Amino acid sequence: MTPDPNAAPAPPVLELTGVTRRYGSLTAVDDVSLRLPAGARHAVIGPNGAGKTTLLNLIAGTDRPDHGRIALDGEDITRTGTARRSRLGVARSFQQPSVIADLTVLDNVVLAGWPHHPERRGAWRRPSRYRRHTESAGRHLEAVGLADVAHRPASTLSHGQRRMLDLAAALAGEPRLLLLDEPAAGLTDGDIGRLLGIVGALPESVAVILVEHHVEVVAQLASTVTVLTAGRVLVTGPTQEALAHPEVRDAYRDTATTPSAAIAEAKG
Ligand code: ATP
Repeated sequence: MTPDPNAAPAPPVLELTGVTRRYGSLTAVDDVSLRLPAGARHAVIGPNGAGKTTLLNLIAGTDRPDHGRIALDGEDITRTGTARRSRLGVARSFQQPSVIADLTVLDNVVLAGWPHHPERRGAWRRPSRYRRHTESAGRHLEAVGLADVAHRPASTLSHGQRRMLDLAAALAGEPRLLLLDEPAAGLTDGDIGRLLGIVGALPESVAVILVEHHVEVVAQLASTVTVLTAGRVLVTGPTQEALAHPEVRDAYRDTATTPSAAIAEAKG
């Protein structure tokens, strides 16, 4: 079918308008506005305490703004709880992986995907449905390189493997918007290379917001960067332009962690 030239353009996947969060006299996020189109690869960077994690919390719904509006696919979700945001397609991978240590790796992903799976009703009692759940969880494990350890308890995984499992669990809900909170923190160069491959291969249907200190990981994954300082947007723009901003260059000159070997490997 030919697209209707008079049809209204699709709303951005995520739109923040004048979002502000105060803690007492401290303004952690100060009048932040952002627009993420479909398929966005958007990094948020800035010094410690700039408000990056608070911003992710506001988008995920674990915290609420004092002012401003948050919309997902045009729907106002400013006051919407985390469970409904998750059903609408917001998923998050955490700095400290939120895996259930006593369950197997596979069951962690089955459980994470359960509320989102089209065949969830009665699946415990119907082996064919349950099998389709485990098959789709298995595909997510394969994508993050954990298929070989699917039947091991999650407690036996290394830190890097737990981060990958957390990512597979986030992807199991087939999200519209994936929030990645310092995904490269604490990873070996090899794991960073794997992470770059996985996030780089995500389909256009998934928009990504990435909070990350590794500036080379940002340069590799993000097409747009927002720089926060003291809760305010210093600059939002194409990655190379934003990273070339004089204040950003000064801030990262001495502190940037640059896992060059992993980046070089990921670039092939
Ligand atoms: P980092 O890079 O160190 O993780 P960040 O950019 O993620 O920092 P936030 O964690 O969002 O920064 O914190 C922004 C500011 O808000 C900081 O000054 C922090 O101390 C403060 N803050 C965050 N959460 C709370 C809270 N629940 N209560 C009071 N102050 C808070």
